[in-house]
Amino acid sequence: MNLDRPTLPGGLPFAGSLRRDFAFRPIDGRLELQLADVLDAAESTPEAVSGALMASLASLCGAVPERAAVDALCVADRQFLMRHLASLLTRHSGWFEAACSHCSARFDFPLDPLALPAKPAGEGFPVARVRIGQRQVRLRVPSGGDQIRVVGLPEAGRREALLRGLELIEAGTASGLPGRLGPEQMARCEAALEAVAPELACQVLAECPDCGGQNRVEVDPYRVLAHDPDQTLQDVHHLAWYYHWAEAEILAMPRARRARYLQLIDAARGMSQ
Ligand SMILES: [Zn+2]
Repeated sequence: MNLDRPTLPGGLPFAGSLRRDFAFRPIDGRLELQLADVLDAAESTPEAVSGALMASLASLCGAVPERAAVDALCVADRQFLMRHLASLLTRHSGWFEAACSHCSARFDFPLDPLALPAKPAGEGFPVARVRIGQRQVRLRVPSGGDQIRVVGLPEAGRREALLRGLELIEAGTASGLPGRLGPEQMARCEAALEAVAPELACQVLAECPDCGGQNRVEVDPYRVLAHDPDQTLQDVHHLAWYYHWAEAEILAMPRARRARYLQLIDAARGMSQ
């Protein structure tokens, strides 16, 4: 058992400091099917991420997870949690597939996505400061809620709308951002945000076994969104067929116990052949 509990790279402000703790619910068949339902119902990737985290987290930053808190997490924290959820849910999670950019061969390579490096939050997180003209502007690092806010906007105005929604304005003062943000001003705001935002590595170098070429492979932090519930249904089918247990009983069983019963069925079949 790993006693070093992982913590969020960013965290949520709480009583003057940042809380970074989290825990997932035990994985059982109910959660596996619930995740599939959440993902089917979501209208966008950031909505799906919030739904998946609401379904799967037992606690977040010292509290029972609420949608507002899940949405308030910075993007890297949400990617970090989704990566953890994928490793809890995915069987054979150590193998990834890629197409070689040199010889086009498809190959598998081993990878533990949880071992990929993360850039920690910078000084001042979650607030970045940037000077625009004569004004000092304070911007909050983008969260899942910000992604959801702009995901449906036309692409042309999305970048500026995102930045405007991040500005922290003290009561009684005017916005420090000009009425129209130019490309250079947007780039400066984004650079200031990147300097304090945590960031997860989403690429890895993998060597092609056919030609020895090095490939830069994308490791999607949201790959758990492609999780197929059919394996769960097959497990239910096998256990119900063999033991005559009810669907609800099988779905409520911890995943490891379900897997063990399936092994026992396989072993019994092997002996009877
Ligand atoms: Zn190759």
